[in-house]
This record gives sequence, structure tokens and C-alpha cells, in this order.
Amino acid sequence: MLLKSTRNSEVSAPFREAIFIGLTPDGGLYYPAEELNFSSLYERFDKNTLFNTIATEMTAAFLKDETDREGAARIVNRAFDFEPRLVDLGTGISVLELFHGPTCAFKDFGASFLASTMEEFLKEDKGQAIILTATSGDTGSAVAQAFYGKKNIDVIILYPSGRVSPLQEKQLTTLGGNIHALEVKGAFDDCQRMVKEAFNNGALKKEFGLSSANSINIGRLFPQSFYYVWARAQMMDDPVFCVPSGNFGNITAGLYAAHWGLKVKQFIAATNANNVVPQFLESGIYTSRPSVSTHSNAMDVGDPSNFERLEQLYEGKVDKFRASIKGDWVSDGETEETMGRIYKELGYIMCPHTAVGYLAAERYLKDHRDSPIITLSTAHPGKFVEVVDQVLGVKPQLPPALQALISKEKKSTLVENRVGEIEKYLRVNF
Ligand SMILES: *Cc1c(COP(=O)(O)O)cnc(C)c1O
Repeated sequence: MLLKSTRNSEVSAPFREAIFIGLTPDGGLYYPAEELNFSSLYERFDKNTLFNTIATEMTAAFLKDETDREGAARIVNRAFDFEPRLVDLGTGISVLELFHGPTCAFKDFGASFLASTMEEFLKEDKGQAIILTATSGDTGSAVAQAFYGKKNIDVIILYPSGRVSPLQEKQLTTLGGNIHALEVKGAFDDCQRMVKEAFNNGALKKEFGLSSANSINIGRLFPQSFYYVWARAQMMDDPVFCVPSGNFGNITAGLYAAHWGLKVKQFIAATNANNVVPQFLESGIYTSRPSVSTHSNAMDVGDPSNFERLEQLYEGKVDKFRASIKGDWVSDGETEETMGRIYKELGYIMCPHTAVGYLAAERYLKDHRDSPIITLSTAHPGKFVEVVDQVLGVKPQLPPALQALISKEKKSTLVENRVGEIEKYLRVNF
């Protein structure tokens, strides 16, 4: 698949190169250059079709110039030993649980697929890569887990010392092997600056084969389309998808699936108080703002990075946006109310991000009785035990995979927040 830059259609790269580049050289995002039609492929799927079958078929079609069907199957089966689950709450709303992967959040789908694809292409090209990434806590763990044990790839993760939760730190520092944790004496911004400086050093980048694995990477975005197709195949009707959104990567993948022929009635973009996109859908004017912090903190984004991909998809026309996406936003008070009510009425515990989507879905359902609604659940409630405990007065069980980490030993390298620390680490260790 040839990909183009959202900033300049002359800037392009094939998928197998683009996933190692990340951001386009002109600072834009990669999007598929070809008009795809997967309608006849989608029609072959029904509620008995396995998630990995759907993922393999879509990968083989998307990467038809870059790998064969066996290659696609290898990539998919190595990436996914977990699946989405669709839970009908009996309220007219079904919850698409995307948290059954290794770090119990939907980002596992994108990170696992990217890692598996990189491993496949590096093996063919006899290449080596070092992934460099900065994390404020949560996103780095999906990357660390996904790349753990991958051949010919090392991952260096920078995180701010003392500023991530104890569980997050365990997720980053206990894997060992090809996952290297650099504990930076500083803030997240320092980590990000150090990574940027290393990438700006062209010679260093080339010498060590430095790559990034940010959530804007097309290799993380594309696989997120699989579970929309899988969930649609589970229903007998065209669904409404309601997506709790921050950087809008998750919903963009669904919108791509629909653009490629998936029959969907409507998408709802549900945000917290960081409601830049819902406001844009209402007023037609996009105004980014500094983010404010909320209960659903993985969605505290004041200038969603994937908006640029949507502008490309809808040619910057607000009418086209409105034809596909409805916006809604939910306050912290409403999030608490929803979590409490659903737990009391149905005994179902949701994380705060999921509750944002659930309330937006309920509001939509009031005016549209006839539509089956699927709302995406982006994380296991056990990952947000403080908020859940505060609101519901119950501590959800941590999933066993995360529980096991608590007793493991931390291994990290403490570094100053200085230019050159990354280079020093690379020269000593690689
Ligand atoms: C990242 C994240 C989101 C937001 O997803 P985007 O793709 O950035 O819109 C929502 N919930 C959780 C738990 C997340 O980790």
C-alpha cells in the first residue's frame, strides 16, 4: 500500500517503509493513497468468522504489494493471541470490550500489530531497528509488551522518574530482554525533548536504525479497523459506533473501515471536557486549546493529532464530517453518575473512558430507538482503580496479567535529563 503525507501528496512511502518512519518527513501523517473498496471482502464475514481471519484477510488486501497471504497470516497470528468481546448489556447498547490484551487497553491491538509487522519486514530485509519512545506512563507499556521478545528489534523507553504510577513503572521496567527502560531525572517533556533530539541527529538515527512507535504510526492505526469489521459481522444490522476519543486514532480507524465499504449507520465521537472536535462539528470552526485534566485522562487532548487525517478524508468540508460523525461530550460529574448507575443497575463496572462513550450512546438512543449501538470500551476498569474506587466504592480486580507484575523486580537505568544521554546509552549497549 502506498501512503501519502497529509501535508503534501508528493511525499509518499510504501507501508513497509512508512511504519519505520512514523511522522512523514514534512511533519504530516501517512494515509492510504489508493481508494480502497473492501465491500465484497466484508460481505464474506459473519458472526462465526474469527477475529484473526478478518484481520488476516484485511491485512492481505491492504498489503497485497508487500506480502502474501501467508505473510499476512503470520503477522496477524503473532500479533493477536487475544480478541475483542461484544457484551450485550440488554439496554439497546452493546459494549465492545477491547481490553483483553496484555496491557488491558485497546492500544494493545495497534502496538501488537505494528511490532509483528516490523519483525516480519526486518526478517525479510535482514535489518535491525531500535525503537525510541517517551512515555508519561500508560502508552509506553503497550509498546513495551508488544515488542517484548521480537527478533532484531530493541526498544528504549524514556520515562520521568517518580512521575509514573507504581504499576505503570512495573509495566515498563520488569520485562528486560530487548526492552530497555531509561529512567530520566526530569519530567515527561524532558523525555520527549531527548527523544526528539536523538531523531534530529540524522547520523545517529541512521547508524542505529532508530524508529518510533507513536500512536500516529499508520502501522498502529490500520489494525484498529479490524474490530469494527468484526463487531459489524457479529450484528444482523448496520450499527452505530460510539467511540470515546482523545487523539481520535481509534475512531479514525473505524471511519476508514467505513470509507472502504463497511456498512455503518453512524459514528459518534464522545469526548470529555476536552471537546474541541464536538465543538468543531457544531460550529464548523476548529479551535485547539490546552488540555484540561479529567477522570478519563487518556482522552485529555486539546489538539487531537488524527484530526489531520480526517481533514484529508473529508477534504476539509464540515458537511462531510457531519455526514459521518456526530459529536458529544461528557463532564466528570456525568461520567461518575454513569459509572455509578450502570454498576448499580447492571452490576457492570466500566472505566471512566468507557463511561463517557456509554452516556453519549444512551443520549443518542433516546432519539433513535431503532438503531443497535455498539460503544467501545477502551480499558479494563482495574487500570483505573483509584477513580473506580472513589466513585463506586469497590476496587475492581486487577487483571491477572497486571497483578503478576507487582512482585517482579524493577530494572532501569537512571539518566540525567541531558542531550547526549541517549547517544551514550546507545554507544555503550549496542
Ligand atoms: C488512548 C486512549 C483513548 C483515546 O483513544 P484515541 O485513539 O486517542 O482517541 C481512550 N481510552 C483509553 C483508555 C486510552 O488509552
